[in-house]
Amino acid sequence: MHRPAFVPHAAKDAFVLRTNVFVPGITTTAISGRLYVVHKQSLAVLLGDRPEVPTGPAGDGSLYLGTLDDAPCFARVLDEPAPPGGTELVPLRQLFGALSDEDFGVAGRALGLTSWDRDHRYCGRCGTATARSAAERSRVCPACAHPAYPRLSPAVIVAVERDGKILLARNARTRMPFHSVLAGFVEVGESLEGCVRREVTEEAGIELADIRYFGSQPWPLTNSLMIGFTARWARGELVEDPTEIAEAAWHAPDALPEVPGKLSIARALIDDFVRRHGA
Ligand SMILES: [Zn+2]
Repeated sequence: MHRPAFVPHAAKDAFVLRTNVFVPGITTTAISGRLYVVHKQSLAVLLGDRPEVPTGPAGDGSLYLGTLDDAPCFARVLDEPAPPGGTELVPLRQLFGALSDEDFGVAGRALGLTSWDRDHRYCGRCGTATARSAAERSRVCPACAHPAYPRLSPAVIVAVERDGKILLARNARTRMPFHSVLAGFVEVGESLEGCVRREVTEEAGIELADIRYFGSQPWPLTNSLMIGFTARWARGELVEDPTEIAEAAWHAPDALPEVPGKLSIARALIDDFVRRHGA
């Protein structure tokens, strides 16, 4: 789930028996299964040789997610940091690579859907208590029929190249030490390509050509979907927006500053640039 699908896997995997297949679902007759118990941005796991998601009775109020390898998966949110017996709360970020990719993806769904479910207990239009729909992933108001769907915020992220160099910037708002490709949230009424152009012009003052889709990555920690692009510099010189960007510059593939970790599509874009330029 976390890796952008920029390599076509279909042909390679055609004769491989697939394991760890998640099938989303809304309702089930099952009353127990795999339990994705979350508190804030952490997941309750059994700590052994490698962390594992516990199994057990779903309990009242659990949210059914679907099946993973035919096992029902349920999500539950904890208001207090009191994980079920034998488990410990571990920040989801730290479980990357420790859980299987699919399991990590289900945990991300658990995090995103439980927070949505909890934040939409009352109708945003008339204030009546809502109920979960049995037909689709929504909560519906019994008084005015207003539905609430899980919210997803699309964001673009783009690797811009000029003469064999990549544009990397340090964000002015975070204390993160690394330099990364530019990103920003899509506005209402905007196309993805339009957002790529606007963000890069606003933050770095340049114009782009040859904007191409790269891949995408769900980012449940902020209910986002990151949509990655590559692009070429077309015109203009770098002028940083000081409210967004602390420092922006063109970097050669063999002289990169500190870049984001393997978890991110940002890093996949940077690695792809380095690969294509043979550093
Ligand atoms: Zn209502």
